[in-house]
Amino acid sequence: MKLSRLVRFLLVAFVLGGFFGLVSGLAFGGPEESGPASTVRVTQGTSTHASAPAANAATTTSAGPLTEQRARAMGANEMGYIPILSYHRIGSPEGEYTRTPENLRQDLALLAEEGFYPLNVRDLVAGNVDIPAGKSPVVLTFDDSSPDQYRILDNGSLDPDCAVAILQEAVETGRWAPRASFFCDFDVPPFGQGDRVREKLRNLVDWGYEVGSHTLSHLNMKKASLEETARELAEAQKRLQDLIGNGYAVVSLAVPYAAYPADDSILASGEYQGLRYSYSAALSLGGTPAYSPFSTKFRLLHLPRIMVTADALERVLAQLKPGSPLRYVSDGDPLTVSAPQDLPPELGDLLPDLGRPVIRY
Ligand SMILES: [Zn+2]
Repeated sequence: MKLSRLVRFLLVAFVLGGFFGLVSGLAFGGPEESGPASTVRVTQGTSTHASAPAANAATTTSAGPLTEQRARAMGANEMGYIPILSYHRIGSPEGEYTRTPENLRQDLALLAEEGFYPLNVRDLVAGNVDIPAGKSPVVLTFDDSSPDQYRILDNGSLDPDCAVAILQEAVETGRWAPRASFFCDFDVPPFGQGDRVREKLRNLVDWGYEVGSHTLSHLNMKKASLEETARELAEAQKRLQDLIGNGYAVVSLAVPYAAYPADDSILASGEYQGLRYSYSAALSLGGTPAYSPFSTKFRLLHLPRIMVTADALERVLAQLKPGSPLRYVSDGDPLTVSAPQDLPPELGDLLPDLGRPVIRY
């Protein structure tokens, strides 16, 4: 009797300890790159965003730890491809760099319908793929900070046809989260409406979206001098961070024209006249889905993106249909990596030193 009570006590203590350890790990132990503002985002985002990891942790705990059997049953494959979509202007008519509001709405509905769930670039590169079990991650990126991505009307409400309003509309369905990465440059004030730049950037971050850099002047870094490149990388990062405040770290960079400098390492870190900068991720184009952040083929500074024009989205979704061994499927636990033993060779190999639990089945 006594013994069974002791066993029960130990079991409860173990389960509760694991649960609170996981929650506090999620809230406070984030990856180095994320900085304090990211912690704020995780703990204080909208209810959809904030509740997802905790709910998953609770599910995992109440059903026992994630096992090979459970990972297999949910078809978890965290070595699969992740599409990173590229948008520019939102308006009419539809064109190479313009998506109509109606098509953006349809894209989001289609993605939700097909079991995708959004993720910010900063979380992808940190391996923090915190999406519900069984869902597949997709990253939405918006370049050039054009006014039609985020416009506030005279009465203070959001223009219902701007990108942010359309994303928020999808969040209200309960099937989507407020996540997307906005890459800003300063050719004109980000998103226009110069007196509202700070408000918009802060809102994006507070709501759960990511703000990234697109250099100061939309610089062609393939042609620019090393000094000019370093200046723009450093100053764009600093200006965005100063505007957002609260210790927010800008960690992602969309490379204008996908024109890379001769030496990529200048993107990762450097300094200009004593002003230091660093980026964890750089995004290119390329037209293919990205490798998993747990794959040997994942390249932080060359993340490929798919331009969403015409039927590009339908084509990538056809390649990543439910049941495809190429599709990333979450196990619901952002701290554990689950994947089948037999993987298509094109996905690469699982990185050897992930520093987190791995389940192969
Ligand atoms: Zn651009």
